[in-house]
Amino acid sequence: MRLGIMGGTFDPIHYGHLVVAQSSYHHFRLDRVVFVPAGQPPHKLGRRVTPARQRFLMVALATMSNPAFDVSDLEVERPGPSYTIDTLRAFRKEVGPDGELYFITGADATLEILDWKDPEELLRLACFVAATRPGYPGTELEEVRAKLPPAAAARIVSIEIPALAISSTEIRRRVAEGAPIKYLLPEPVEQYIMKNRLYAGRAQPEEARPDRVEEGSR
Ligand code: NAP
Repeated sequence: MRLGIMGGTFDPIHYGHLVVAQSSYHHFRLDRVVFVPAGQPPHKLGRRVTPARQRFLMVALATMSNPAFDVSDLEVERPGPSYTIDTLRAFRKEVGPDGELYFITGADATLEILDWKDPEELLRLACFVAATRPGYPGTELEEVRAKLPPAAAARIVSIEIPALAISSTEIRRRVAEGAPIKYLLPEPVEQYIMKNRLYAGRAQPEEARPDRVEEGSR
């Protein structure tokens, strides 16, 4: 069993995430990819994040048509901060000692892996797939690898995904400003956001990022 675990806050999920999961499924010959929305992202405690149950529902809506994708409420149901180490231990039990785990997430998140709980065990339990946007400088990931023993360093791989020009931050900003989000994420997710008035009028918790999709940009 080669299992992909797609970790993220998914606030909200968008086509960039879905392309990352599909590309990883193909590239690493995975049997399936399980999306695991973070319940309480450990690095976002005290920051405004959409309730976990709503983020989970959006992920379920976005992935339901793909037979290779599943969604897990493991982190949503687990009390306390959602440490990836606890999630990987649970999936390791599921796949057994011979199964292979691929933890897939954004490159910026992966850069912090040495500050996560139990980084060495993390890299023993799973191979980390860092999804990058086009033009992402590989040097930063190289610096992280350089701080690790060779066997652990080899367990961090990157995959460039042009569709990651879409970002959740940008989608939240666009909703708050009344700009369209159509074609940036699956239609049922867009409808869910509008029906539940998510992000409308929300002050943005993060700085606007330079990689945001600009109207009319080429
Ligand atoms: P984040 O800091 O919100 O995101 C960092 C960057 O990665 C953003 O550009 C984000 O884009 C992108 N990204 C996030 N998930 C992605 C995915 N699955 N595929 C492609 N790009 C992705 O990171 P986060 O989403 O909150 O956390 C990522 C994962 O790391 C989660 O599973 C989280 O629980 C885990 N984590 C664990 C620890 C720990 O165990 N101590 C600490 C930190 C993070 P978008 O904003 O567009 O998604």
